[in-house]
Amino acid sequence: MKNFYNHLHAQHQGKVEMFRGALVPCFEVPARADHVLAELQRRQLGAVLEPQTFDEAALTAIHSPRYLKFLATAWDQWVALDAANADKDILPSVWPTRTFRTDIEPDNFAAKVGLYSYDAGTPFTSGTWVAARAGAHCALSAAQAVLAGDRAAFALSRPPGHHAGADFFGGYCFLNNAALAAQHLLDQGKGAGVKKVAVLDVDYHHGNGTQAIFYDRPDVFFASIHGDPRTEYPFYLGHADETGTGAGLGANLNLPLPRGTDYATWSQALETALAGIAKFGADALVVSLGMDTFEGDPISGFKLTTQDYLRLGERLARAGLPTVFVFEGGYAVDAVGVNAVNVLQGFTSP
Ligand SMILES: [Zn+2]
Repeated sequence: MKNFYNHLHAQHQGKVEMFRGALVPCFEVPARADHVLAELQRRQLGAVLEPQTFDEAALTAIHSPRYLKFLATAWDQWVALDAANADKDILPSVWPTRTFRTDIEPDNFAAKVGLYSYDAGTPFTSGTWVAARAGAHCALSAAQAVLAGDRAAFALSRPPGHHAGADFFGGYCFLNNAALAAQHLLDQGKGAGVKKVAVLDVDYHHGNGTQAIFYDRPDVFFASIHGDPRTEYPFYLGHADETGTGAGLGANLNLPLPRGTDYATWSQALETALAGIAKFGADALVVSLGMDTFEGDPISGFKLTTQDYLRLGERLARAGLPTVFVFEGGYAVDAVGVNAVNVLQGFTSP
């Protein structure tokens, strides 16, 4: 399996996030990706490659030009306000909720940040854009490898992506790497017979960004197994009655589960998700590989064990689809490498 590693990921390193009423050190830290890389190399699970670069069109296939322009210029705007800002991260603090307008981009920088975000847990730093763009290129490179005939490829990158929408960041995510990979498979995969793609999101948190991007699309099936949004982040999306809209009706499958769910129950939801994907007739699969379903995760509530991830990988392999793995969440930093690579190992050598 080819692994595309974002060698610029550590340029995104937030200082603090708002969590349960306090500013706390960020959970989403560079060491997460470092541990996965070290474990990949220790087990020699395929080549670790640098991504290709892709032009703007690969990003605008998913994200709005207005949003991309904001991401590319946000840090310079922030420091231009006050040189002392260079020592602080940008943290959103105001948002246009119901009844406000979002069609007019405000001149005020704080208001602009709020327009393009939805929480105060996602700091934007001096290196965020560079890191996120290189991460998107990892996901696109992994999709490209699969189109070229590889059975599977892994995008090892941070910041993660599945909470990012077409024009907003949040949940530690800025560019939706899984959505970019899925779109690339469709746009470039016609010659390889790729007409329909499924995204399976196994992160603890609902992939609200990915769902929103594809919600009205008949060519991308989105399935997500996650903590019940009534109690778990991102709270406002991810319920079982969200099944798609318009031409996309029936191409969205949410499987929310209560806190405390273990693999015996979780894997039943996995069977439901894979049955939905098979019925849809996907030609390729993108897996949003979040490892925060782990029993030791500090901000999540499922009870999957390190051994369960081998079984998850084996089961995904039996789905028999060309597969792009995209690294998402997982905050038990010391365990995230072994757990993520267990999925890949289970997939490649059951
Ligand atoms: Zn997560």
